[in-house]
Amino acid sequence: MQAELIFTGTELLLGEVLNTHAQYLSQQMAALGIEVILHTTVGDNWDRLAEAFEIALRRADLIVITGGLGPTSDDLTKDIVARVLGLPMLPDGQTLQLLREFVDRRGSSLSESMARQAYFPAGARVLPNPAGTAPGALLEYQGRIIILLPGPPRELKAIFEASVVPYLISLGNRGMVTRTRLLKMTGISESEVQERIGNLGGQGNPGIAYLAKPGEVHVRISAQAPSVAVADRMIDELLEKVRQRLADYVFGMDDEVLEEVVGKLLVKKGLTCALAESCTGGLVAARLTSIPGSSAYFWGSVVAYDNRVKEKVLGVPAGVLETHGAVSRPTAIAMAEGVRNLMGTHLGLSITGIAGPGGGTPVKPVGLTYIALATAEGTTCQEFHFPGHRQAVRQGAANAALNMIRL
Ligand code: ATP
Ligand code: MG
Repeated sequence: MQAELIFTGTELLLGEVLNTHAQYLSQQMAALGIEVILHTTVGDNWDRLAEAFEIALRRADLIVITGGLGPTSDDLTKDIVARVLGLPMLPDGQTLQLLREFVDRRGSSLSESMARQAYFPAGARVLPNPAGTAPGALLEYQGRIIILLPGPPRELKAIFEASVVPYLISLGNRGMVTRTRLLKMTGISESEVQERIGNLGGQGNPGIAYLAKPGEVHVRISAQAPSVAVADRMIDELLEKVRQRLADYVFGMDDEVLEEVVGKLLVKKGLTCALAESCTGGLVAARLTSIPGSSAYFWGSVVAYDNRVKEKVLGVPAGVLETHGAVSRPTAIAMAEGVRNLMGTHLGLSITGIAGPGGGTPVKPVGLTYIALATAEGTTCQEFHFPGHRQAVRQGAANAALNMIRL
């Protein structure tokens, strides 16, 4: 199967927004064994999008169009697809209902422009949007598959993973059911995961695909079989073998996120925790507090960015900072112990590192990070070297810090 991806949005042509969908969707297609033959980017322009879509219909089996599903007048995608294919636009009852509930909660009524989000080309399958109000859509038309996805990256990914992946996997196997599970890891690189899994599987059935996320690696295991029970058994068998090879790094499955796994663990052990964050600037606190009920175990975080905060608030001795520097094992340990004393929690976790792009030296390169965990039994500290740009280093550090609580 050959695919063409069409990205819409004048902001992409102006260079205001980087087209991250191009990379994400192409990586996903590759993992699914679908060949992407073209990327096309068009502005929010009725005629040019219609033309790009008509051309794509002639040369690709699968056409994915991103953006332009929202309520505003520059959101044209569904209308253009309907016009080119000669289909009427029809309302979807369930989407209308969800939109009504959405506006009700905000105490307003459903405007005509909002309601447009519930209209789809006749025959389209509506792809629910777990992260927003504009659903995606899928059409099978004269041997072509057309998939429409919203522009906001979070929404696009949510719909793609929940609805499009299972659909595309099932395509080659009509009459069969497809099941997938996601195994989530941290503290290990994608290439190392691949090496360890090695001969266990590739694109066969059951198949394995690798997805690199900031600070995490996900392994998707999928299987097709005549029944759910058989497909699940095939997945479970392979899953067990993969787990054995990567046990130390696996933190969760499917929808689970690391901060949630850590939260559950703290509840189970009856422990409270406080943070002292330097290079992550509150990232770990933000992730921990994104979980409902986190007040049961999370007390607070000191964003100790400047050395004066490390010294005055956390009580890191001036001598330690002078002798070893802010990014050092002794400083990380003093920060963790300092915040634990300050807040009176069971655990004190600290992160200090060089996020870059500047500030690195041959002895202390960008990416060098120390993470320390202070407990009643004592304090441990680990040294890490996170690759990549500033955000990647910060994300890697946040994941490693959460992972240290988990372990
Ligand atoms: P909305 O309901 O937000 O209007 P939409 O489906 O109409 O959603 P757009 O209006 O085209 O989508 O885009 C919404 C936002 O999504 C844009 O402001 C942009 O930041 C982001 N976006 C769109 N396309 C891309 C892309 N290819 N890569 C990265 N970000 C994108
Ligand atoms: Mg829009």
